[in-house]
This record gives sequence, structure tokens and C-alpha cells, in this order.
Amino acid sequence: MMNPIYLDNNATTRIAPEVLEAMFPYLANVYGNPSSQHLFGEPVKRRIGEARSAVAALLGASPTELVFTSGATESNHTAIMGALAMRPGRREIVTMSVEHPSVLRLFRRLGETGYRVTFLPVHSDGAPDMDVLQETVTEETALVSMMWANNETGVVFPVTEAVGVAKNKGALFHTDAVQAIGKIPVNLSENPADLLSVSGHKLHAPKGIGVLFVRKGLTLPPLLFGHQERGRRGGTENVPGIVGLGKACELAALGMADDMERVRGLRDRLEQGILRAVPTARVNGGRHGRVPNTANLCFGTMDAEAILSRLNRLGIAVSAGSACSSGGTEPSHVLTAMGLSREEALASIRFSLSRYTTIEEISKVLEVLPGIMEELTAMDLVRG
Ligand code: PMP
Repeated sequence: MMNPIYLDNNATTRIAPEVLEAMFPYLANVYGNPSSQHLFGEPVKRRIGEARSAVAALLGASPTELVFTSGATESNHTAIMGALAMRPGRREIVTMSVEHPSVLRLFRRLGETGYRVTFLPVHSDGAPDMDVLQETVTEETALVSMMWANNETGVVFPVTEAVGVAKNKGALFHTDAVQAIGKIPVNLSENPADLLSVSGHKLHAPKGIGVLFVRKGLTLPPLLFGHQERGRRGGTENVPGIVGLGKACELAALGMADDMERVRGLRDRLEQGILRAVPTARVNGGRHGRVPNTANLCFGTMDAEAILSRLNRLGIAVSAGSACSSGGTEPSHVLTAMGLSREEALASIRFSLSRYTTIEEISKVLEVLPGIMEELTAMDLVRG
């Protein structure tokens, strides 16, 4: 079999070789606890400081504004629960209907505990209804949480505009920027968001490491108590993870512009190739306001799971719906919120590329897809 082709980079990414190399000593002989005040602890503490600076540089933040976490799920929870504690009198919270489950499910839970929750609707191109946002946010609103880019469609949201709406009413603003970091510029010295979540494993760092940005001046209560991270997140630091994330951010700061230009070219080639080969196919999400690595296409009435399993057999990994909700045959909540029917949502596939994706891999996908379409169409005709 040929080398497998990985086009599911919004689910997780390969650890960059440079990241692995930077991490290795901290998995091997540099094992001190960064809180220890001796020769084993001190160099580790210093290295964490360097990694923090590298992450801060990529985000346009100050190192003191960053808290290392176990990933974006924890960052999202710390941000949201912390924001509510900072605005104790306010009982309204706002998010979008197309958020990641780590935000959506928490908001649903908060709704059950007495908060008035608004899930902003989106238009057919995936963009949120900003009129509803304007109408919804009041002096009673504690928090607005809007992701920077969507994991399923790649649609980029008007975060800067939404921060303005929230701030106008004294609400806090959080953004889940997991799918934006390393793909498009995110600069917190220009964007006044209060809280921002990052996940390492979406930008070629390992799983189990993330960051929460907390704007200077905000003192959030922690989710996990302890002395680490200046009392903002307890638990002995995931040192190799932190070092890896620092390196991944350095690499993104250096290479993102060129890498993503190339990735955009490959994504567009793939998308146009599919649209040409499959007349019933169409792109989910506005064609222009998207991160450069993501293509989500609806294949008419074809069963996405059937396409996926045939691609899988040929060594090509893609995703039908989000990886986090796979295992069931429920249509994607993101696509149905955009107005796709259940059948259309179940006919949709996400291709997500990375800087390691090659033109040969894209050509291979375009080569095998027509055969799969023919086979499935023939099966459909037989079934009637
Ligand atoms: N938010 C978004 C938009 C994501 O894509 C993911 C990962 N699927 C998460 C949050 C959760 O990140 P983690 O796996 O680091 O908890």
C-alpha cells in the first residue's frame, strides 16, 4: 500500500520533528520539577519561561498573560467559569450555535443551572447573525464566547466586531482560537479579547498541552487550585508539552505566512478538482473567509461515511463531521445550523491539510475520488 495520506489536521496534527527534538531532553534526563529550588529544578523553570515567551510572541501577548493548561477544553472551561465569577450579578451568556462541543455543552449545562443562554444562529455561509448579537447583548450579559475559526468548515468569525459589542455592555469576551492559531495571524495587541484558548495538538505540538490567555488586569479564579502558574492553574507543569508548544509557536511565527500560502493553493486545487469531478458537490461555508487549510464539501446525496470508508481503505484519512462527534450517525450541528438538511450534512466531508501535505497527495485524492463516486452511484442505482 502507498504511504497513508493524512487530511484530518483539524482533528489533530503530526508533531513537528523540531518540536519532538526540543521536547526530548525534558522526557529524558532534564526531569526536575520546575518548582524545586535546586540545580534540577532551575533549568526547567527557565525553559518554561522561554517557551512562554515564544507562545506570547506568536499571539502578540505578554508572557504574564498566559496560563498553561492541559488543552483547549480546559482553557475553555477555565475562561468561561472564570468569566462568570468575574461578573457575578449578570445572568445572561451568549455563544454561537456552531461552537466546539467543549463550549456548547458547558453553555447548555449553565442553561440548566439558571443562566439565560443565547446560541447565536448563523447564515448559510457560516457567518453569525450579528444583528442577533447586537440585540442579545445587554447590561445583563456576563460573557460572549465566539470561536475564531470553525473546526468543521474553517469559517473565520468576526471576532473583532463581536468584542466591540460585548465591551460596549461591559460583558467579558472569550474566543476559542484553536483552529486559527498557526493558520492565520492572531494578534492580541490589536484585538482586545479578554480570554483566548489555544490547543497544542492542532499546531504540531503534542496532545495534552494548551494555553489560556487572560488579559492583563483580569484576575480569574482558577479551575484547578495550586501554587503553579502563579496560582492560576494548579498541577505540576507538563514540561515536555510546554517546551513542545513553545517550539511549535516559534515555527509558526517563522513559517506560517509561506506555509499557509502553499496550503491554500493545495486546498483550492483539491476543492476545484472535486467540484469539477463531482457535479453535485458544493462547498460548505463562505468560500473566502476561511482558514487556508480546510475544505468541507457536500457530495450531493452520497453517504459521507461510505466515501470515507473507501478513502480509508485506500490509505486516505478524512473526516465526516467533526472527529469529536463521530461514532454516531448524527448530522453535524455546524452544518445543520448553516441550513443544510440532515441528508446534506450526512453527505459532507472535511478535508484538512497541513504544512506537511504535498501536491502528490492532493493529486492522489483527486485521482481516486471519481472511481469511488461511480461505485457508489452504481450501488445506489442497483438499490433503486
Ligand atoms: N475547540 C476547538 C475548535 C477544537 O477543534 C478542539 C479540538 N477538537 C477543542 C476546542 C478541544 O481541544 P483539546 O483537544 O486541546 O481539548
